[in-house]
Amino acid sequence: MLDVVLAGGRVVDPETGLDQVGDVGVRDGSIAAVSATPLHGRVRLDAAGLVVAPGFVDLHSHAQTVPSLRMQALDGVTTALELEAGGYPLAAAYQAAADEGRPINYGFAASWVGARMTVLEQAPLDGGFAALAAAIGTAGWQRLVDGPTAAAVVAEVDRELGEGGIGIGLMPGYAPESNREEYLAVAALAARREVPTYTHVRHGHTSEPGSCVHGVGELVHVAAMTGAHMHLCHVNSTGWRRAPELLELLGRARGFGLRLSTEMYPWGAASTVMGAPWFDPLNLDHTGIAPQAMFDASRGRWVRDAEDLAAIRRETPGDIGLFHFLDETAEADLAVLDDVLAHPDVAVATDAIPYLSGGRPVTGRAWPLPDDALAHPRLAGSFSRTLRRQVRERRVLTLPEAIRRMTLVPAQVVEAAAPDARRKGRVQPGCDADLVAFDPGTVAERATYDDPRRPSHGMRHVLVGGTPLVRDGRLDTSVMPGRPLRGRGR
Ligand SMILES: [Zn+2]
Repeated sequence: MLDVVLAGGRVVDPETGLDQVGDVGVRDGSIAAVSATPLHGRVRLDAAGLVVAPGFVDLHSHAQTVPSLRMQALDGVTTALELEAGGYPLAAAYQAAADEGRPINYGFAASWVGARMTVLEQAPLDGGFAALAAAIGTAGWQRLVDGPTAAAVVAEVDRELGEGGIGIGLMPGYAPESNREEYLAVAALAARREVPTYTHVRHGHTSEPGSCVHGVGELVHVAAMTGAHMHLCHVNSTGWRRAPELLELLGRARGFGLRLSTEMYPWGAASTVMGAPWFDPLNLDHTGIAPQAMFDASRGRWVRDAEDLAAIRRETPGDIGLFHFLDETAEADLAVLDDVLAHPDVAVATDAIPYLSGGRPVTGRAWPLPDDALAHPRLAGSFSRTLRRQVRERRVLTLPEAIRRMTLVPAQVVEAAAPDARRKGRVQPGCDADLVAFDPGTVAERATYDDPRRPSHGMRHVLVGGTPLVRDGRLDTSVMPGRPLRGRGR
C-alpha cells in the first residue's frame, strides 16, 4: 500500500526525459512508483491537468526562517540551500534548524565570510543570517592579511567542511581588498576535497575599471588555476545589462573544460546589506546607482540622498536595501533577463533574504506573515515568475527545460559535495518524494515590490519527503517535514 498518490498529472522527469500522463506513488518518504496506469494509496491527490515535477531546489536562499521558507514552498521550492554566505558555525546553523523545525529541506555551505570574521575579529556568530548580515558591512573582517592569517582562514574553512558544509561559499565582493592568494587557496582546498565553491565575485557593476567582467574574470582564472568547480552566484545582479557577456565568457571557458556553473533570478532589482562596499557614496557615480533609487527595507523607507546613505551605512550597515539595476518597465531591459536564462544550464535561484518586520527577521512559527513584513519579491515568486513569463509568455524555454533548470541542474551543482542530492531533482523510483503539482496555464507570481507578502498562485500540491505541505493550494502549518542536506565531510 502506498502512502500518497499524485494521480493523473503530466509527469516530467528532467533526467530520463520522461514526459507522460500518469500517477506517482510515494511510500516512506520516497518515490515508490511512476506509472502510466492508476496506482492506489491511502491519500489520493488529484493532479489531472497539472504538471507533476520534482520539487524546486533553490541554491541561494539566505531566508532560513520558518515563515520565509513557507513562502518559498508556496512557490514550489522543497529544498532551500544557503550556499553563498553559508552557515557559521555550521554545527549551530544545522542545530538551530533541527530544533525549530523547517517546512522544507535545508542545508548550508562552509562560510569563508564566517571563517574570516572569526579568525580576524572574533566576531560572535550564531549560525544565523541576522548576525552575519549585521557584521558583513563592517571593515574588520574585510582587510588584506598576512600569509599565516590567510592560511588560518583556509584551515577554518576546511574544519567547517568537516562539519558537513555543502562546498564553500565565498564573498570577495563584500571584501574587495581581501587576499587574492587566499581566494585561490580556498578554491584549491575545494578542488582537493572535490566540492564546489559559490562566489559573489569581487566586482559586480558595469563600469570600468573594476567591472563585473574583472570579477568574473578572476573566477574563471581561479577555476583554471585550481581545477575547482566554481559556481557564480546571481549572474543577473552581478552583470546587470552586461550579464549576457558574462555568460558568453563562462560558456567559452566551459568549452575549454573548466568547471563553471551559474544561476539567476528573473527580476531587475537586487537586495543586500546597505553596508555593501559598492554602495559607498564616494563611488556611487562610478557604479551608476542613485541614492534615491535605494529602498531601506529595515527602516521601511527610501534613501533621501548621499548624506542619508552615509549615515545609514555608519549607524546600521546591516540594514537590508533594495536597488534596481534594470528598468522593469522597459522592454529592452526585461529582454536581458530572457537572454540570461536562454544560456545553457543557467539555474533559477532566488537569493532570498528573510522577511523583515521592524528591521528584524520574522522568525518563529507565526502565520500568516505580519502586515508590515518586507522582502524582495524574489523570495516568494522567482520560480512561478519564470514559469509565467519566460515559459508561458515569452517562450524562452520549453516547460521541461525550465523544470530542469529548477530541479536537476541545481541538484547536480551540489551532488559532488552532498551525495544525497542525487535523490533530489528527479521523479524516479528511489528518489526523495519532494514533488510539486502545478497548473502550467495559470501558475504565476503575485508578490511585487510594493506587496511582497503575496504567495504565488498555481502550486496545487507540494510534497516534502512524502508529506503534503501544500494540499489543494492550502499550506499545512502543522507539519515540518524539512530535513537537512549535508556535505559528505561529516
Ligand atoms: Zn550575493
